[in-house]
Amino acid sequence: MTTVIRGDIVFTQKPGYFTVLEDGCVVVGDDGRVTEVTRSLDDLTLHGHYVLGECIPPAGGWTTPPVPPHWEPGPQVVDRRGCLVIPSFVDLHVHAPQYPMSGLGLDMELLQWLRSTTFPTESRFADDEVAETWYRRFVRRMWRVGTLRFSAFATLHVGATQLLMRLCQEAGLRPVIGKVNMDRNAPEDLRERTSDSLDGTRLIAETSSTETPDVGYIVTPRFVPSTTPKLMEGLGEIVRHFELPVQSHLDENRSEVEWVRRLHPDIPTYAEVYDHFGLMPEGRTIMAHCIWLTDSERELLRERRVWAAHCPQSNLNLTSGLMPVRRNLDAGLKVCIASDVAAGHDPSMPRQIVAAIETSKAKTFEAGHEKDRPLTLSEAFYMATKRPGEFFGAIGRGRVGSFEPGYDFDALVIREEEDNPLDMSVEGRLARFIYDGDDRDILERWVAGRRIPEPFAR
Ligand SMILES: [Zn+2]
Repeated sequence: MTTVIRGDIVFTQKPGYFTVLEDGCVVVGDDGRVTEVTRSLDDLTLHGHYVLGECIPPAGGWTTPPVPPHWEPGPQVVDRRGCLVIPSFVDLHVHAPQYPMSGLGLDMELLQWLRSTTFPTESRFADDEVAETWYRRFVRRMWRVGTLRFSAFATLHVGATQLLMRLCQEAGLRPVIGKVNMDRNAPEDLRERTSDSLDGTRLIAETSSTETPDVGYIVTPRFVPSTTPKLMEGLGEIVRHFELPVQSHLDENRSEVEWVRRLHPDIPTYAEVYDHFGLMPEGRTIMAHCIWLTDSERELLRERRVWAAHCPQSNLNLTSGLMPVRRNLDAGLKVCIASDVAAGHDPSMPRQIVAAIETSKAKTFEAGHEKDRPLTLSEAFYMATKRPGEFFGAIGRGRVGSFEPGYDFDALVIREEEDNPLDMSVEGRLARFIYDGDDRDILERWVAGRRIPEPFAR
């Protein structure tokens, strides 16, 4: 059945401005895709009449009746007048097993933090009970904060990775998830035999499309220092064979960059190591951080149409650096905003949007960066919705992150706590939600035209 969602519609078709339809409508077809966006019900080109689907009164009650008396049964109208209707958030870099350690060890830099805090936590996911408990909590939290599509690292454990994929499928979320690959420079219980690492990857890649059809698989070498050339070569073959996407880390921390240079002295740059082993397939690669890119790496990422996942909160927490976001955008990179939980301590994308704007402002204060104009709110919102949403379209899992026709209707309905006496614009209300709101303001979550209830509710 066609569904019409009525409310104050806001999205970003382009980075530079918000498209705002006050008391507008999004029309969603049977297939869960947007067919039309209009300024009012009267503009709808649908045939027939409408009947009210569900009705939640705005604070202070209705000023006009929710539906004219002459209306007859027809397509469902979900009346959300007085609420904001925005695309749900897309996070292209998050570590699901690190959720238990949010906020821990953040006085350290990356390599020390990995050894002291991250690896001991991830090794606990060999235990099915630990994995089940924490992955349920993680999935519920992503639902709560309105991040309904994401690209997640699991751990190297095959069973726990499959469990996470099943939980997401059951919850109605549509992420891509990867088993981490590690066969060097890791504690013994997190160091795989190269052949086991490849076999496990192949197994999930082969079975996930039937077992968890809405949850995709993404090849996930942790980072170059964790993966031997033999493993990277084997993963490259798997990527080619199954035409899979890839996610990893790149140029996050200066000691890490130097370590990669020592490990691969014959390859000029960090990015070229991935490319050399076939781990940067064009138009389906996510590289997290990209803080210390050289010009030639920037050019390679542009050529390969890589999504550069900018994780500002994480980069500050681990004293990694400030991504020159404006320079990367001007160079034509597909920069999106991501949480990097748990180096980013908060999975909420509004918090990450604010961190990205603040970081970009800090960048302009650095010597030589006067021309690095700060991000605007609409740019940052675009980088947390439509820009990362394009990744799902590129890998054949539906375009998301906007309400343009053809996009999957992935949305959040936001209801502010109280009536605002300031007679604020729709855009102003969105800004308040991004800067000062939280998940309690999110009334509904929609994925591909379907409302998603709270998963695993007790
Ligand atoms: Zn990460």
